[in-house]
Amino acid sequence: MPEVKSYAAQNAKDPLGPFSISRRQPGDFDVQIEILFCGVCHSDIHQVRNEWGGSMYPMVPGHEIVGRVSQVGSKVTNFKEGDLAGIGCFVDSCRTCASCLDGLEQYCEVHNAATYNSTEMDRKTPTYGGYSKRIVVDEKYTLKISPELDLARVAPLLCAGITTYSPLRQWQVSKGHKVGVLGLGGLGHMAVKLAVSMGAEVTVLSTSPSKEADAKSLGAQNFVVTKNKEAVDPIMNTLDFIIDTVSAQHDLNFYLQMLKRDGTLILLGVPPEAPQLSVFNLIGKRRRVAGSLIGGIKETQEMLDYCAEHQIMSDIEVIPIADINEAYERMMKGDVKYRFVIDMASL
Ligand code: NAP
Ligand code: ZN
Ligand code: ZN
Repeated sequence: MPEVKSYAAQNAKDPLGPFSISRRQPGDFDVQIEILFCGVCHSDIHQVRNEWGGSMYPMVPGHEIVGRVSQVGSKVTNFKEGDLAGIGCFVDSCRTCASCLDGLEQYCEVHNAATYNSTEMDRKTPTYGGYSKRIVVDEKYTLKISPELDLARVAPLLCAGITTYSPLRQWQVSKGHKVGVLGLGGLGHMAVKLAVSMGAEVTVLSTSPSKEADAKSLGAQNFVVTKNKEAVDPIMNTLDFIIDTVSAQHDLNFYLQMLKRDGTLILLGVPPEAPQLSVFNLIGKRRRVAGSLIGGIKETQEMLDYCAEHQIMSDIEVIPIADINEAYERMMKGDVKYRFVIDMASL
């Protein structure tokens, strides 16, 4: 099997470094992609550092992948050599369970083969992600990418974009809704752009006063520093939805009180610690807490097409792969505007 240059974590503690992996030769239904850009998601940090438990090493992270097709299998119909292509958070699923049949492969009831830190459907072959030069994926799990958009800025749509688009559609967010976006990072800044494009009035709820001007230029009507009591009081009991993208432990009870009657707190961020909920904050206003995981292939393509039509892309800082460890440290400090994207030409 051909060797492919990559960057990997060998354990939860050491910095990532160069590593060589093998990728399969494209089978009949496979698309081989030369990776051009890969976004850096906070889930990469959680998994590299084994913050969720069960991490598999060596780990080649990265699930916001865009590149160019270099070879296709004999039965591939949707892609040809030279096309742009994208890979998101998973590369296969059972294809026969109720969720797969509904186009919600991320909720596959048998096995969702995540793009990295997981296995293929044989439950043995490890999957390796986008911090690498090349990937081989079944065309059913490969996305079409518009040549009209800036490719590096499209990469984060494959996770941050779909993860925020899917709940906004599921809860039919539109004009007249007041949406709080909690945490202005990679997911958060996409949530703002997408919710605004759907007509919602958006309030960014942030711990970083320095992000106010950015929040407004992303389209948010309001910006609230959540540590500032005078700023928080007027928004209590006013929001229809809160899209919670925070990656670290935080007090859900405080944010729940910002929801009006029948409001919904949608959890996207996955802090390693389990949250605590006061039932009184729910029953007193019939509030709801929900969660949402990325999106299926059909909806991811719909989101990519929607973003192409509305010229919605991520705001990024392009880095060489050698800066990945420093990028993780900066993300831990909230110092990213608003997604790091690795230029794979640097590998
Ligand atoms: P990110 O770029 O690091 O952004 C997280 C933001 O959360 C920060 O910019 C910061 O915003 C805020 N924050 C950080 N620590 C905080 C704290 N202690 N208290 C309050 N706010 C804090 O991360 P990301 O890539 O957007 O990912 C966010 C989370 O979503 C991660 O846990 C990731 O694993 C998860 N995720 C889930 C899915 C899914 O399918 N559900 C998909 C992708 C990612 P402010 O500076 O504005 O406060
Ligand atoms: Zn992600
Ligand atoms: Zn399935």
